[in-house]
Amino acid sequence: MNHLSKLPKVETTIFTVMSRLAHQHKAINLSQGFPDFPTDPKLIELVTKAMKAGYNQYAPMPGIYSLREVIAEKIESLHKKTYDPEHEITITAGATQAIFTIISTFIRPGDEVLLFKPAYDCYEPAIVVNGGIPVFVQLQGKEFKVDWSEVKNKISSKTKMVIINTPHNPSGTVLSKEDMLRLEAVLADTDIILLSDEVYEHIVFDGKAHQSASRFPGLAERTFICASFGKTFHNTGWKTGYCVAPKQLMEEFRKTHQFNVFCANHPMQRAFATYLEDASSYLELPAFYERKRDAFLEMISGSKFSFTPSKGTYFQLLDYSAITDESDVDFAKRLCTEYGLASIPISVFNVNNEDNRLLRFCFAKKEETLQKAARILNTTQ
Ligand code: PMP
Ligand code: GLN
Repeated sequence: MNHLSKLPKVETTIFTVMSRLAHQHKAINLSQGFPDFPTDPKLIELVTKAMKAGYNQYAPMPGIYSLREVIAEKIESLHKKTYDPEHEITITAGATQAIFTIISTFIRPGDEVLLFKPAYDCYEPAIVVNGGIPVFVQLQGKEFKVDWSEVKNKISSKTKMVIINTPHNPSGTVLSKEDMLRLEAVLADTDIILLSDEVYEHIVFDGKAHQSASRFPGLAERTFICASFGKTFHNTGWKTGYCVAPKQLMEEFRKTHQFNVFCANHPMQRAFATYLEDASSYLELPAFYERKRDAFLEMISGSKFSFTPSKGTYFQLLDYSAITDESDVDFAKRLCTEYGLASIPISVFNVNNEDNRLLRFCFAKKEETLQKAARILNTTQ
């Protein structure tokens, strides 16, 4: 059958490519971002209990109310911002669905969407398939800083949306309070919608606070915040998350959401509603992942890889320029096929595939997995 692709340039996502290669070569898989340790058995019990209690049919379209309520309480206590569970919080099938639905709801052909590169790979296809035009700002230097004057210059009358992601995948950097204030100033007096991807909201290191867009009134009034229980509670395969936004924006979102998935899965929502009542489940997460980051970096401190410690997320970038001149894609493939360690090359997320000889490693892994990976990294020539 003859048809014209709406996404002619889109190939299979790098996460599938690298995980597949890891599987084929029985390599240690630090590429795709998911934990190799189990989710809390208490959560599994809660899901089982919900299924046995008969919560196996559709949930309400925006999600069960008790879950939306605990989410509102969590945001209120962490960021001092009140969201109305009735009108301003929707449970989604993971953050990916929230992001796709937000973009589909608001982006018309010709609308510009500004995003920062390197960028997580689900934003751009969602913009393009809806006829939008992605406009890129490349993050600068080893610290992946935002050049706010470039952002200002690239905002035009056609800009409909800006997408940010903090803590940032793949760089492991975070936006500071000053960054958020700059963004607030840039967007003031515009009707631009902000999509703030905060799936790593609870994985911020070195005693820093997560600068959620909900903390900044001039941002919150125009922002969809997207979150993922998969990232926070070690169950990426459950595909459950949520988004929050002011009522007027959320009303539009739900018009699309109801015909996109209608609702997210029901028993998981029941389980999360109970589980989230205990705040320690997410408040202990920064220390948990900081220990993993520090242990991993300590293990590879004698290697030829150089690094700036990750400030958030469960990803660590390693610079391999002291080892080889190969492109990051070639080196990532060789590291997997010859040495048995899978990672993600960063150039695939950059403007013009800019290659800074960086690979991304996921440290959401058991100690023994990290040790095996470190042994390989310490002997990589
Ligand atoms: N945004 C970012 C930055 C991510 O790394 C991911 C991967 N989890 C997602 C969104 C998607 O989250 P989910 O698995 O809940 O769809
Ligand atoms: N967010 C995960 C990562 O960055 C991957 C999710 C996916 O495979 N689409 O590795």
